[in-house]
Amino acid sequence: MGIYQQLGLKQVINASGKMTALGASAVHPSIAKAMGEAAMDYVEISELMIVAGRHIAEATGAEDGCPTSGAAAGIAISVAAVIAGCHLSLIERLPFSEGMKNKIIIQKGHAVHFGASVQQMIALGGGKVVEVGHANHVEADHLREAIDDQTAALLYVKSHHAIQKGMQSLDTMIQLGREFGLPVIVDAAAEEDLRRYVAMGADLVIYSGGKAIGGPTSGFIAGRADLVAACRAQYKGVGRAMKVGKEAIAGLLAALGQYDPEKQNVTEQRRRVEWLAGELDRLPGVKARIAQDEAGREIYRVQVQLDKRVTGMTAHELTRQLEQGNPAIFTRNHYVNTGVIAFDPRPFHEGQEHIIAARMKELLQKQGEGE
Ligand SMILES: *Cc1c(COP(=O)(O)O)cnc(C)c1O
Repeated sequence: MGIYQQLGLKQVINASGKMTALGASAVHPSIAKAMGEAAMDYVEISELMIVAGRHIAEATGAEDGCPTSGAAAGIAISVAAVIAGCHLSLIERLPFSEGMKNKIIIQKGHAVHFGASVQQMIALGGGKVVEVGHANHVEADHLREAIDDQTAALLYVKSHHAIQKGMQSLDTMIQLGREFGLPVIVDAAAEEDLRRYVAMGADLVIYSGGKAIGGPTSGFIAGRADLVAACRAQYKGVGRAMKVGKEAIAGLLAALGQYDPEKQNVTEQRRRVEWLAGELDRLPGVKARIAQDEAGREIYRVQVQLDKRVTGMTAHELTRQLEQGNPAIFTRNHYVNTGVIAFDPRPFHEGQEHIIAARMKELLQKQGEGE
């Protein structure tokens, strides 16, 4: 029996993706081993942070890195760092930042909710959020005209949550940052490419440890040495409420060490997806096809379109029934309003696609028989 079942919880089959609500990632045994060993011993944390920074630097091509408890904490800590630097008395004043350069400029289509709001994380770090332009249209002049002598940084959100069209590119923001001598922070929480934004010239780039790289609940900031030192310094201030444990750091470094975006197990995932699509396509009122990730990543999912007249229930009702069963099955529901649900194979444990196919059969055939 698994640890969560011992606690009286239902088993969960995650066909949704790397979702915080389901525990983000299930780590590889070698990562769990590193975490276990780290938990059972002592270490000088300040030195562990420095060593971790070197590993992060190596993985990202940045000058230095700083572990965090997650990407959300990474936003707050990055903002605090550009506002307070390494000045202890300022660090201890945050998030109250009156009289300090504290404005953080963000495009309106990037002021999004990822499970919590980007703006709130900026505010936690003492930033005064300045949203510029419109939700679906931002011009470079909007950004340029918002910059004044109280501006501390520009923040760019690289995410499927952000509005994709009508926004200014990261290149433009980096150019503006250079022109006005302002740091550019990138929230790249779920991105797979750990080197790209650093190479483009972003000053601080934030990643989640539990998303693309498949590590434990954790995160990190990669970037310019002076700013990363300021990030570390925030652990004497607001960062203390976002403390990252030694276990998480050890797990994060193990995950970084074995992460290779070129070698994601695409063939195995495709095999599972093809099998599942074949099974589901045979069910009454179901059309199943294989769809590549909307953002063009090497992820293939089963996309199921329900014909409500045949199934007698909407896609939304079906997802609720899947979630209420035992094991509870969670699907990817971004397009559930249009009658489409998707199954993401990345989080599957061995053989779980069989359980999913059986449950779908049970739910839909029962409906087909008019029960
Ligand atoms: C997931 C996410 C976060 C938060 O990451 P955590 O590691 O869960 O704290 C922040 N920003 C974006 C765009 C995200 O997708």
